[in-house]
Amino acid sequence: MNRTQEQPLESFDGVIVGAGVIGAAVARALARYRLSLLLLDRESDVGTVTSAANSAIVHSGYDPVPGSLKAKMNVAGNRLFPETCRQLDVDLKMIGSLTLAIGDEEVAVLDELAARAAQNGVPVEILSRAEVLRREPNLTPEVRAALFAPTAGIVNPFELTVALAENAVQNGVTLRLNEEVTRVAPAPDGWYTVTTSRGAYRTRALVNAAGLHADTLANAALAERGRSADYEIRPRKGEYFVLDHFDPEFIRHTIFTVPTQKGKGILVTPTTHGNYLIGPSAEFTDRKDNFATTDETLARVLASAQKLVPSIPTRQIIRQFAGLRAVEKRGEFVIDRPAPGLINLLGIQSPGLTASLAIAEEVVNLIRNDVPLEENPDFDPRRRPRVRLARMAPLDRAAYVAEHPSFGRIVCRCEDVSEGEIVDAIRRPCGATTVDGVKKRVRPGFGKCQGGFCQPQVVRILARELGRKPEEIPLKSPGTEILLERIGETDDA
Ligand SMILES: Cc1cc2nc3c(=O)[nH]c(=O)nc-3n(C[C@H](O)[C@H](O)[C@H](O)COP(=O)(O)OP(=O)(O)OC[C@H]3O[C@@H](n4cnc5c(N)ncnc54)[C@H](O)[C@@H]3O)c2cc1C
Repeated sequence: MNRTQEQPLESFDGVIVGAGVIGAAVARALARYRLSLLLLDRESDVGTVTSAANSAIVHSGYDPVPGSLKAKMNVAGNRLFPETCRQLDVDLKMIGSLTLAIGDEEVAVLDELAARAAQNGVPVEILSRAEVLRREPNLTPEVRAALFAPTAGIVNPFELTVALAENAVQNGVTLRLNEEVTRVAPAPDGWYTVTTSRGAYRTRALVNAAGLHADTLANAALAERGRSADYEIRPRKGEYFVLDHFDPEFIRHTIFTVPTQKGKGILVTPTTHGNYLIGPSAEFTDRKDNFATTDETLARVLASAQKLVPSIPTRQIIRQFAGLRAVEKRGEFVIDRPAPGLINLLGIQSPGLTASLAIAEEVVNLIRNDVPLEENPDFDPRRRPRVRLARMAPLDRAAYVAEHPSFGRIVCRCEDVSEGEIVDAIRRPCGATTVDGVKKRVRPGFGKCQGGFCQPQVVRILARELGRKPEEIPLKSPGTEILLERIGETDDA
């Protein structure tokens, strides 16, 4: 007898596949109701794929085609950010964006964008050259005018995904990582059997938030019902440069070129941690795991960015990376319920981060068809705030360290991160279990040395906290362990 015949499968009202920002937002939104919920991801942590490699902009919504799902979700999602980030203690800065017109043709594009913004219900203003340069003196003197969108912001996307998942777990959602969904089959009683790399579950509703792989999952689930479906996601790569934090006044807004057919164009933006981000490119690739950057593309990215901000200090570049947009062949977000109990969140390319909170509300509306929703009176929307030592005033910091000595032991000097903050990131619900997980949550390794100095200490703290050997601590996922074997001891080992 196999396991499925021996014992009843574990059952959930809802199973959410994919713990990127979309799946995590859905899990938290559904946790407001009395439901048993399972959030699954095949990676070792939440938010490791597209949700970890994007521009981190909370778009205002002036750009998507009026009436489209993208426009609706973008604008609704943007409005939900300030309150949600307050509840979850997530870094958000509503710094506004400037879309620059450099030639005459681009000035005309700004007028079109302003008209779109009005249709989408997004406040914007066209600023004169003099006003743009007054606000941003480091922009190109060739700028003719700019579209100012005051409701655009920047967010920490890693922190947002972790915080949504953590709050969902705090409110009763079960999170299982390193578990890949391999099959979704309808059962005769109308439920689904969800087979994974580790076992199987039964659920009344399956939410497909599998990002780049959501097309495969959706097509296969519908094929199990004898239906053919043709969802198709093509990854479109975006490559970036990250600059160290240097002058906080160098650029104050998110600076965009005018959008092109391929997307929003190149941007130069501060991040919530005072770094600067330049990018992204927009090229289709055939592979959903192709995150490589190339010198040629990055050279084009830099040249385009220098047209906006000629004096970008290239010596401040500390890193490059790429993310893959999950572009569905229709070019639009797909939020549908093609069969009872199956909800697809597909093709959630940019502005998906911004739209995430609104998409989660759409799922609440759709899932009512499959599962009765009754408010959970114990739902707590707040996450315990993090101690952020680097931002404390010197006297407060000294007082805090006196009471909590581990916060006085600095592990990452580039980003000013203490052992206490790292331990907290590991011990929280949905805590870090990998070096990258610690980095995403509290930033050791994000600075100029890129982990060269702090990584061994992070490995040691993870090993101690998780009760494992240092050789068992992975960078990202099983098989990416950093230390190969113990060859001797040093005094501080
Ligand atoms: C270059 C670039 C720039 C962007 N810039 C912005 C921006 O500035 N602002 C904005 O609003 N949006 C932006 N976006 C879009 C935004 O990043 C995405 O819309 C968002 O991150 C999508 O989240 P997701 O949860 O759908 O996908 P992901 O984060 O990829 O999560 C999907 C998850 O599903 C898991 N998974 C897949 N298959 C399975 C399976 N079979 N079993 C279990 N788990 C599975 C994966 O491991 C993954 O963790 C950008 C995207 C890119 C690529």
